[in-house]
Amino acid sequence: ADGGVEGKTFVIGTDTTFAPFEFRQDGELTGIDMDLVRAIGDEEGFSVEVRSLGFNAALQALTSNQVDGVIAGMSITDERKEVYDFSEPYFESGIQMAVAKDDDAITGYEDLKGKTVVAKTGAEGETYAKSIAKKYGFKVKGLDQSATMYESVKSGNAVAVFDDYPVLAYGIAQNNGLKTVTDKVPGGSYGFAVNKGKNTALLASFNDGLAKLKANGEYDKILDKYLADPT
Ligand code: GLN
Repeated sequence: ADGGVEGKTFVIGTDTTFAPFEFRQDGELTGIDMDLVRAIGDEEGFSVEVRSLGFNAALQALTSNQVDGVIAGMSITDERKEVYDFSEPYFESGIQMAVAKDDDAITGYEDLKGKTVVAKTGAEGETYAKSIAKKYGFKVKGLDQSATMYESVKSGNAVAVFDDYPVLAYGIAQNNGLKTVTDKVPGGSYGFAVNKGKNTALLASFNDGLAKLKANGEYDKILDKYLADPT
């Protein structure tokens, strides 16, 4: 039997730096995903021990049952549904391309011919970039962290980065040295994931808690905390 979740501690894998969903502030892991999973735990009576593993590493840890669940701005995709079970979606997302703020040479995918772009290994941004790479004649280099991806564009090692648009928008609003020049590409919404057929009580409890947080206004409060216009 699966048992309940009450009083239990679950190990949750996440990405390293994926603001505003997970990032460190004064050494503490914070962000929408962190607040959500902790608030759901409080609501449902379970505790979480979060491991900041990196996106691809978190997915691998989930596959090998080294973590009970993953919350990492992780998109619900048909391919992933073959190996993981997802919660109800909690945030809409998709992909966008960004270039260095002072780069006027790249204004569309056509300008990527013969160039190298970066994306996160195992992420939707990488899948999307690879899906159009041949058509536009560019090379895709996979990196493990969004921060490293952005740095490589700013230093000129790559001409563009493909990442989730809410994350790019958040960074750009904080003057991270990038800008977007192409349209958003709709993608999968974010969901909390468990290994297929495992931790069914945790998954049910996440969905139950999420519904409660949506009903009592706490979900909106968490989003506002990170996304509301500061003015
Ligand atoms: N949403 C994207 C995906 O699931 C990227 C997630 C991430 O980089 N943390 O592939």
